[in-house]
Amino acid sequence: MLSEIIKGTIDLIYPWHCVICSRSIQNANNLSGLCAACYHSIRINKPPFCPKCSRHLGKRPTHRLCNVCQKQPAHYDFAWAACVYEEPLKTLLHHFKYHRKKHLQHVFQECIVGFIHAFSLDISQFDLMIPVPLHPTKLRERGFNQSEILAKSLLSQAQCPLQKNIIARRRSTPSQTLLSQKERWTNMQGAFTIKTPQAVKNKSVLIIDDLLTTGATVSEVARELKRSGSGLVGVLTLAIKC
Ligand SMILES: [Zn+2]
Ligand SMILES: [Zn+2]
Repeated sequence: MLSEIIKGTIDLIYPWHCVICSRSIQNANNLSGLCAACYHSIRINKPPFCPKCSRHLGKRPTHRLCNVCQKQPAHYDFAWAACVYEEPLKTLLHHFKYHRKKHLQHVFQECIVGFIHAFSLDISQFDLMIPVPLHPTKLRERGFNQSEILAKSLLSQAQCPLQKNIIARRRSTPSQTLLSQKERWTNMQGAFTIKTPQAVKNKSVLIIDDLLTTGATVSEVARELKRSGSGLVGVLTLAIKC
């Protein structure tokens, strides 16, 4: 706690310090808030990918689904995840969501756009981008929706509109963090509702979220979209838990 206060004070006096290692950042034009060493230690997701969720498969044959997808088939058609959810990205995402360090969006944008280009992902194939909504209570507490910020940063890449009011969180779900894999899926059932089904009917939709763990949250959004007549439903997340 004390170290947090000291670090917060240092940040106020010397804003050009790396948010991870506290080293001074030489380049004042560096908007990321990260030193070069920490920036380059973010692990970008690499093949072989699970064909369904893009989780790195290690030495498994590439045509096989990962263990998570084998256990619970998701409703989305496929998911892309730019980075592996490990340090320093875990801490960065925590700072972004819970300490309002919104400037970190520049780092996340570079990671996602770099991933899109590295693997020539066709995100122009979608008609709409939809960020996973937060429940209004959580949105008030946090002050912003991290998925919406990520989606906004991808507008120039996707060349399709961002629709944040089509889908709503019907109920506030307990945090997924402490739940087992099976509980995560039941926890999300019925969590979302499509407010304007005609807006997604026959449309291909890209769902944007910050983190893919089991895929239960984005799968539930995809299920509602498909029930409303959406065609292709893809997912793009900043990170995936491997
Ligand atoms: Zn650093
Ligand atoms: Zn998978």
